[in-house]
Amino acid sequence: MKLISVKNGSKKTKIIVISVAVAVAVAIIALAFWIIGAFSSEDVGNISKAAATDKNDKVVVTDEIPETPDKAILDEAKMLFVSYDYEKALELISSLDTEEATALKAEIEAEVATLAPADNYAIPHIFFHSLIADTSKAFDGDYKEAGYNQVMTTISEFNEILAEMYEKGFVLVSIHDIAGVNEDGTTYEKEILLPPGKKPFVLSVDDVNYYEYMEGDGFASRIVIGEDGKPTCEMKLDDGTITTGDFDVVPLLDAFIEEHPEFSYRGAKGILALTGYEGVLGYRTCPSYSDEPTYAADIESAKAVAQNLKDNGWEFASHSWGHRDMSKMSFENFKIDTNRWEDEVEPIIGTTDVILYPFGSDIGSWKGYKEDNEKFNYLKKVGFNYFCNVDGNRAWLQIGKNYVRQGRRNLDGYKMYYDMINPNKDWLSDLIDVEKVFDKSRPTPVPPM
Ligand SMILES: [Zn+2]
Repeated sequence: MKLISVKNGSKKTKIIVISVAVAVAVAIIALAFWIIGAFSSEDVGNISKAAATDKNDKVVVTDEIPETPDKAILDEAKMLFVSYDYEKALELISSLDTEEATALKAEIEAEVATLAPADNYAIPHIFFHSLIADTSKAFDGDYKEAGYNQVMTTISEFNEILAEMYEKGFVLVSIHDIAGVNEDGTTYEKEILLPPGKKPFVLSVDDVNYYEYMEGDGFASRIVIGEDGKPTCEMKLDDGTITTGDFDVVPLLDAFIEEHPEFSYRGAKGILALTGYEGVLGYRTCPSYSDEPTYAADIESAKAVAQNLKDNGWEFASHSWGHRDMSKMSFENFKIDTNRWEDEVEPIIGTTDVILYPFGSDIGSWKGYKEDNEKFNYLKKVGFNYFCNVDGNRAWLQIGKNYVRQGRRNLDGYKMYYDMINPNKDWLSDLIDVEKVFDKSRPTPVPPM
């Protein structure tokens, strides 16, 4: 889209520049003749000829600039329209004067007339951990099986969740679409306009670090840039060979949105929450690995992958450096942990203003962050504006004077199993049909928390 408007712009600019140049040239020649006092009719004729030649040149030059194909503009406008960016879509086709463009304009305007603002306070924020790609390895009876069974989600469950939420009319939005931050740090609510039947939601993934303990347990091992230039995952097989594919949330959601662009509001993807103590995204970028031969290369690769993820609509969040309980730790340790995250993770992923508390453990009560909350003040000072806890069963949003807080809902084995076996519990029916989603390869009962 940007490219097209730039082309249009430069074409216009070029014509103006040429016209001005012609005028200036004519004026200079005229001035020259006037000065030498040689204003014969023949010379006037010459001037006219020069101008005409210039005029002809102008036409030739203009023709050399290839016309932006109307179809490309129309396709781009259609894509903006499907992803709810009505204003930009209309702006883009305003330059077209074809039957198709007129029809599309009418279609967009008809949908715009039906739009209604979402209730931002009712927007669910769902979250996952790295997905279990191979259930036989995660559920192999070792000491880690219970934990995986409780807090992880399998790939088949994730795919079914996306399909069901899509069917129910859910549309993925960014947390930054819900509220904004002014230059002075104060916050304000934003308006999300959607057609009838569409409901916004936010998605995040915790601990996208591919920790060492997960190796051999059926998870992806890191995020890489695929041959098509888009983010994908690597996974280590039993024989040590490495295979690339859709083994986690990022490539699976990307593929789903590519197929169903109306599932994403203006290109929104999820938030990837990172700790720092074992590096990020499967790269051992933490200074404790600085003796490893792969250390420098890992930092460079992680930076490239992080940029690639951002280019594809993904956002990042802090999950604290050491996966600490931020409400319980002392203020001194809190500062050390926060500084480490800022010093080690931000240089790789860039700045972020979102923090997703480990264990959902918030640093203030539901009533709001008070002005004397030193932990909040510290996080705000280093640049955080969006603060997420875990509020398992409902949507929760708080827009304070200078912060935005949102509760998140876990869609994991524990939540799904206890919702499913307990007829009195109705934790998830607004999002999914848990009977259909729950992966039958899970050992049951899922251990209680
Ligand atoms: Zn975590």
